[in-house]
Amino acid sequence: MSRSPVWHPFTQHGLEPNMLAIARADGAWLETADGRRIFDGVSSWWVITHGHGHPKIVRAIQEQAGKLDQVIFAGFTHEPAEAVARGLVELAPPGLAHIFFSDSGSTSVEVALKMALGYWKNIGKPRTRILALEHAYHGDTIGTMSAGARGVFNAAYEPLLFDVGRIPFPAAGAEQTTFDALERACRAGDVAAFICEPLILGAGGMLIYDAETLAEMHRICKRHDVLFIADEVMTAFGRTGTLFASEQAKIAPDIICVAKGITGGSIPLAATLCTEAIFDAHCSQDRSRMFFHSSSYTANPIACAAAAANLDIWRSEPVLSRIDAVSKAQAACLAQIANDPRFEKARQIGTIAAFELRGASTGYLADVALSLRRKLLDRNVLLRPLGATIYIMPPYCATADDLNGVYAAISEVAVEVRR
Ligand SMILES: *Cc1c(COP(=O)(O)O)cnc(C)c1O
Repeated sequence: MSRSPVWHPFTQHGLEPNMLAIARADGAWLETADGRRIFDGVSSWWVITHGHGHPKIVRAIQEQAGKLDQVIFAGFTHEPAEAVARGLVELAPPGLAHIFFSDSGSTSVEVALKMALGYWKNIGKPRTRILALEHAYHGDTIGTMSAGARGVFNAAYEPLLFDVGRIPFPAAGAEQTTFDALERACRAGDVAAFICEPLILGAGGMLIYDAETLAEMHRICKRHDVLFIADEVMTAFGRTGTLFASEQAKIAPDIICVAKGITGGSIPLAATLCTEAIFDAHCSQDRSRMFFHSSSYTANPIACAAAAANLDIWRSEPVLSRIDAVSKAQAACLAQIANDPRFEKARQIGTIAAFELRGASTGYLADVALSLRRKLLDRNVLLRPLGATIYIMPPYCATADDLNGVYAAISEVAVEVRR
């Protein structure tokens, strides 16, 4: 077979020359051309919510493709975009009144950062400093890498990344350190915005903190007039048990970024939600105050139709009770892990469960991750451990039987990789 010209994301081709070709997917399962079925334990990189191929989303895409495929979004609009924007305003925490569309989680965060800086410039009090949490992940573009934690992921680009104020992660029992650091940084008066992933830091290692801590970080920012950006790219659309993770802390962020689950995982789309105040700061008779951002495919009608169908599913189907069922099944499986000496730090929020392989060398590049991944795939389970952190983030249609199978496979491979 000739070598493929495709360069894959987050892949060391020198160690992984062969990619597994997937031909179909349905519900929580992927299928190869020759009929091998693989459980999608990472929701195809955290995007699939209800399951692959939800009929309402598939139909919406098909119908929209035949009607209006794409139109410039400056000076024009279309019903799918209007429907998504109305739906997001209705479903989001109060006060988020305007929706800016883009194409990926990274761009939704870039837009958020630019909105925050634009707000301060346009109200005549320029502020440009950004605060972010230790272990944060906000995307892979230069701006979002700057906000994210520094490490092996971005070492080559470090000289180009801008400086951000780093706030310690609010580890259980050490929250006060976080609050103090945030308070001190905000007091300087030059901070445009604080950005964080509400309740769980995903790529940073599935690190969970509680809703009261999120609420307190929000209170501190509000006290100092610092814009609060919730990066809900991973958490929105039910992953943590509620539609938005921010709901659990009863906070209304100034800006919320959504992407992964907005179309149910079917097609790329992202949105940055913001308050009236941020929109108003850009709205005037002066063209130099407009929001200077666009992407060619801003609010692509087919993607918006998929998102509108997703919002419809949220309104008309018992999505939260499916999420609850997955969360309970995860809890039951995790209870066994918690008593197993081979694992440690079992934790869960909503549909996401995570734990560490005890005694494994840690860090993203730890060999154990690749070895675990391969052995699990041999058992038809797709998981993608972050170093020694094993996590399971299934679509909401996953059954208790599916999850029992996943945990049984983990138990088997944990024996092998420790030998
Ligand atoms: C995945 C992710 C992003 C980046 O989204 P992309 O669509 O991959 O660009 C940003 N923030 C968080 C919290 C994420 O999980």
